[in-house]
Amino acid sequence: MSTMQALIFHEPGKISVEERPIPRISQGEVLIQVGATSVCASDIRVYKGEKKARAGVIPGHEIAGQVAALGDGVDEVALGDRVVVCPIIACGECYFCLVGKRNRCLRRLTLGYDEDGGFAHYLRVPQGIVKLGHIIKIPQNMDYEIACMTEPFACVLNSLESCRVQPGNSLLIIGAGPMGLIHLVLARAMGAAKVIISDPVEERRRTAEELGAAVCVNPQKQSLLKEVLSATGGMGADAGILSVGAVAPVEEGLSAVRKQGYFNLFAGFPPGSQLTMDANRIHYDELFLTGTQNATTDQYARVSQMLSVLPVARKLITHRLGPAEANKAYEARLGLEGLKSVVLYQ
Ligand SMILES: [Zn+2]
Ligand SMILES: [Zn+2]
Repeated sequence: MSTMQALIFHEPGKISVEERPIPRISQGEVLIQVGATSVCASDIRVYKGEKKARAGVIPGHEIAGQVAALGDGVDEVALGDRVVVCPIIACGECYFCLVGKRNRCLRRLTLGYDEDGGFAHYLRVPQGIVKLGHIIKIPQNMDYEIACMTEPFACVLNSLESCRVQPGNSLLIIGAGPMGLIHLVLARAMGAAKVIISDPVEERRRTAEELGAAVCVNPQKQSLLKEVLSATGGMGADAGILSVGAVAPVEEGLSAVRKQGYFNLFAGFPPGSQLTMDANRIHYDELFLTGTQNATTDQYARVSQMLSVLPVARKLITHRLGPAEANKAYEARLGLEGLKSVVLYQ
């Protein structure tokens, strides 16, 4: 067998499953036999033309699998290792790489956008990932469909840590899509006591309730600010997360955060989105308005250990598809149907 099935991104609105040669690897590279790859909201943004990716690329950056071949000189991993991949190809030399923030590398490339990603039976892992330790071994008992969610969980850990979420805290999450719900699950595991989540879709609010949200708000029918204040004794939430790609809810979200609280813009926005807010709120109430994108290597490693003791994570997977129907995994997300869609390659 020298070919494999791969999902190809041609241009916005156009993806297809095609036969492609199994990639060859060179010195310093690793070949991974993919176990599972999940669809991310940012894959959908590429499909919609809101985010750039190379035409002809194999998408997919939430990847778990097994090491199938090693290029010359590779001693970071061994044949047969079960792993997840941090998809960031970093230079290892710039300021951000040197301070351990490779997600902000000045010469960063990313699997699934610039180089071929995980929606295929095999993945060539470039040297820039291998030598920086971005192939991370997973706990023995963890299966691939859970392991491939290491990437979104790492992004969420970065988001929650940037908001300094502490045991006992209250947290507002705007958006109960897959990433909003991962925020909920991880925040609860980190000790957040009261999570208030807002989403217009009833099914999502129901899932949020099952996953431990204290208050679920329908923003089309209820006042988010009022609900947050009543849930927090009039003070406002310790932190807020925006997990929808729209700026409209930001001002109300900020108003629902307490003095000296944090508010993180987690989701990406359509290009050119502009934000308006009361600047004095930030000044007089000493608010921290932050943004996060992806995560550090350290956060990947820590969250992969956490995931192995978070059985609730499996509840987030609602669609499992075979390699030939990888494009259908996108359709489910485009229709806002269910939560995580995973393509199983083993
Ligand atoms: Zn992702
Ligand atoms: Zn760098």
